[in-house]
Amino acid sequence: MAPAVFKTVGCTSRSGRFDSCLFRTMNEHRPRIPQVETLLQEPSVSRWIPLISRPMVTMIVREELQKIRQSWIEDKKEITHEELLDRIVRACVARYRRSPQRVVNCTGVIIHTNLGRSPIAHETWDAAGELNTAYSSLELDLDTGKRGQRNSLAGDLLSLLAGAESAMVVNNNAAALFLILSVLAKRKEVIVSRGELVQIGGGFRIPDILRQSGARLVEVGTTNITTCEDYLEAVTERTALVLKVHRSNFALRGFTGEPTTAELATALEGRVPLLVDQGSGIVRRGMPGETPIENHIRQGASLVCFSADKALGSVQAGCIVGTRKMITKLLQSPLYRVLRPGKTILTLLEHSVVAHLNGDMPPVLTCIDRSVREQQEMGLCVLEGLPEGRYSLAGAPMTLGGGSSPDEYREGVAIRVLLDRPAEEILRRLRSLDPPIIGTIDKKVVLLHLGALFEEDVPHLRNSLRALAEW
Ligand SMILES: *Cc1c(COP(=O)(O)O)cnc(C)c1O
Repeated sequence: MAPAVFKTVGCTSRSGRFDSCLFRTMNEHRPRIPQVETLLQEPSVSRWIPLISRPMVTMIVREELQKIRQSWIEDKKEITHEELLDRIVRACVARYRRSPQRVVNCTGVIIHTNLGRSPIAHETWDAAGELNTAYSSLELDLDTGKRGQRNSLAGDLLSLLAGAESAMVVNNNAAALFLILSVLAKRKEVIVSRGELVQIGGGFRIPDILRQSGARLVEVGTTNITTCEDYLEAVTERTALVLKVHRSNFALRGFTGEPTTAELATALEGRVPLLVDQGSGIVRRGMPGETPIENHIRQGASLVCFSADKALGSVQAGCIVGTRKMITKLLQSPLYRVLRPGKTILTLLEHSVVAHLNGDMPPVLTCIDRSVREQQEMGLCVLEGLPEGRYSLAGAPMTLGGGSSPDEYREGVAIRVLLDRPAEEILRRLRSLDPPIIGTIDKKVVLLHLGALFEEDVPHLRNSLRALAEW
């Protein structure tokens, strides 16, 4: 755990040599600059060495010393030893915070791309640990003693999960789509509805991916309505695929229409393969606005691709499920060699899929299933013993996020922060904690949603809110 940022303010030096003095000796007109080595031995500085490395802390100390030399030369400005230490520590904190930090998600978005999408289950992490800290038979066939197939169990498990003939794994869903288009549709045509030429997240645009892969985009239909006939009329001998893309991050409402996977697959009569970019990786039924992967396969899609770190609740990876013939072709492509994940990802993903198949839920699904009542109880537990009138519990809608069920809100509960300070300032203060707490603002009031709060973070949240009330 990182040392707290605020505790170091006003610390005393270990040697006491510089206490409260400026860096100047009586008969000198130059500041007495402490040595780098001496500063590195200060506990408030040395504690950063295991976190960001000795060379980096040394570099920071040198930079800060250079700055005080410079400001002495320019305007004879001097600082105390405590101030110097404080500056060094702040610079260390700033570096350290560039690496991903564990945070507490009170945003009301369960799968939040800025917060690393889905946390994986502890059991998954533990199970993969041994395989990753030793040599493994990643590409060794233990029966023959010869080189074997990478990826075989992950593929088999995903096939089972999706009810598909075959499956494979690449680094993310964008890579999955790029691989499919590059291998199966280069210099050929891909038919896409105008209502599905979408941008998903930063830098992922369907027309751009198509262009980059060398496939030619054939747009059909209109923004709000596309019919089976629109697709059929566009089919030629140059058509490689029909692509259907899930609108993960927005909803079309009003006078709209599009064929389902089943209707489109039936209309195409197997003349052209149908590829579905399902996105979210949802495997369970009954999620509003979402079709489980299995259903697309059953309804006749030849290939379906999705992210593993959204509703599947696993690591960052892209999964492709579909016909054996097509998956084999993709696996044999040199591009697969470029996009394939390492053993760490494969072992983690395998474990997640095993857990799914056995009915064990990953943390994101547990959060999705947390009832309003449970959230309320959690909120009462957080607020226990906190001063009256500073916080209250209120209903607050939350979303699944992460490219699933756009526009679908579910009931949730949040803590309302009633302190007399600007909301932005409160959020900033909460972000500066260790671990940072990430909240939201609704109508100028800070909300801390409880839908994705982990039980283990309840004491930290309570202590932080107590400190915040006294701020
Ligand atoms: C999220 C999403 C993607 C991008 O997936 P990554 O795993 O982030 O590469 C592509 N298509 C759809 C429909 C998505 O929802």
